[in-house]
Amino acid sequence: MPKEIFPSSFECDCGHQSDFFENTVREMKAMSQKKKVYLADSAPEEHTIVFYRGKMVAIQCPKQAQSPDTKQSAPKSRPGKKRATTRGIPDEVKTDIAAIVEHFNTTAIRDPLCVYVQRYKGKFLYLDRRDYGRLSPICRLEYTGNMQKWSFAIYKYSDERYDAEEWCFPGEEHVDCTIEGAMKAGLEAYPA
Ligand SMILES: [Zn+2]
Repeated sequence: MPKEIFPSSFECDCGHQSDFFENTVREMKAMSQKKKVYLADSAPEEHTIVFYRGKMVAIQCPKQAQSPDTKQSAPKSRPGKKRATTRGIPDEVKTDIAAIVEHFNTTAIRDPLCVYVQRYKGKFLYLDRRDYGRLSPICRLEYTGNMQKWSFAIYKYSDERYDAEEWCFPGEEHVDCTIEGAMKAGLEAYPA
């Protein structure tokens, strides 16, 4: 895991350290309350620190070719674990997801005609909702190797795409990197 070194430095899993002014870090943390913000250092091997909800949540490392929203996974010396996060969601995780979605449908929504339905593509979990027979996209979660740390993207009907940068929608306060949080947010963003 990337480390924060008090007061304003950050150490990547690869050993690289990024140093910033204390004021800069304070401002970035303040700005990150509602959305993810990115702070790049100016080293030749540029690292980008990702802040969210007032905390550093990830460091994007140029030595690990990852999509911008993927949080840190295993270092290079453990290719097995990295493969699991880049090639898709493992079957045992899908089993857990199915149970979580089912549980939410029966205990939180409690309307058999209004249910979340999961589907998968690579490392993405898509949550659609079937409301009275009509299936609609709600949000997309990206698997980072940790069930409590999904990257969230709401579906924007105006753009007809998933947007990880969009944080101004009703229910966004429920987004807490879990599947339950995403479903709660989706219910408020797109009421059944
Ligand atoms: Zn690095």
